[in-house]
Amino acid sequence: MMARWTVLLVACVLASCEADRPAWQYGFSVMGTEVSVLIAGAETRDPAPHFAAVEARLEQIGRDFYAWADGELADLNRALAEGRSFQASADMAGLLAQAQNLSRLSGGAFDPGIGALVELWGFHQPRPGVAGTPPTDEQIAALLEGCIGIVRISLRSRQVASDCRGPLIDLGGIAKGFAVDEAMSLLRAGGIANAMIDAGGDLRAMGRNGRRAWRVGIQDPRGEGVLGSIALASGEAAFTSGDYARYFTHEEVRYAHVIDPATGYPVTHTASVTVLGGRGIAADAASTALMVAGPEQWRSMAERLGTRAVLRVDAEGSVDMTRIFGGRLEAVPVVTD
Ligand code: ADP
Ligand code: MG
Repeated sequence: MMARWTVLLVACVLASCEADRPAWQYGFSVMGTEVSVLIAGAETRDPAPHFAAVEARLEQIGRDFYAWADGELADLNRALAEGRSFQASADMAGLLAQAQNLSRLSGGAFDPGIGALVELWGFHQPRPGVAGTPPTDEQIAALLEGCIGIVRISLRSRQVASDCRGPLIDLGGIAKGFAVDEAMSLLRAGGIANAMIDAGGDLRAMGRNGRRAWRVGIQDPRGEGVLGSIALASGEAAFTSGDYARYFTHEEVRYAHVIDPATGYPVTHTASVTVLGGRGIAADAASTALMVAGPEQWRSMAERLGTRAVLRVDAEGSVDMTRIFGGRLEAVPVVTD
């Protein structure tokens, strides 16, 4: 978490804070993430109601769209586990439909129906791996043969049902995208035109930061610094999925929180994937899917997902990117003072 905060501070340096310091800034913690809301320009004299509205909405999303909280998704999972169908809210039904679609497009690499695996590995806990040991091959195989995967749920208007008991739905790979999109809509509805929402390094820009574009640094997942910086267009989202923020180490092997639904094991070939996109939801799902895709598949999967700006860092720290991302990535200027 601390490391990700550095990105914003560095981004601030890159954006030349002296000239274009955002007019207002507010930070709070939600969904296990430090969220920062920045409002630039002089469009409001009193940012407090805007900040309060965003914080309240994101707290609600954390409750209702996190499987291990006590909101709607927990209720939905309980119903499915007991073999009942569930009448979802319009927001939940909409997000599940998008999740199903993104899962299909990714060939199952992104699959929010693998909550049981996330739980088995302990990644649902605030500190993953407190138990310290990975599950056994037998435990994983048993889950893979059971009721798992978003394909096992059906969605008819807002009625959610499953042909088996389960599966456990975990929207953790997409909830931050949803949250960032919702925050942007709230600000826009409140008359704010220039803002940035940063949910622990997953972010979306609206308008500009003073005279310049909003600019963010891309963190090096294997080092302290940044790989470069990107100037975001208005409305553009930058989402990163990585193995460096939530993981545990057992007998010198790093087990990070993105799981390959095909094997039931955490991804080990990829350190991070950063995706630029027009919407938080799609960029969030794509960054998770492309973590899973691996060295041979990530480019073709990115195309299938309609994601053209992608940067991938493999487990050894080698950096690769699409031509479009390369065209956007700027070197980090040396800060001398
Ligand atoms: P972050 O939350 O750090 O931005 P991601 O967006 O990649 O990272 O989300 C990772 C979370 O998504 C995990 O903590 C887990 O809850 C869930 N998850 C893990 N593997 C998958 C997967 N293959 N498909 C969908 N969700 C996943
Ligand atoms: Mg994601």
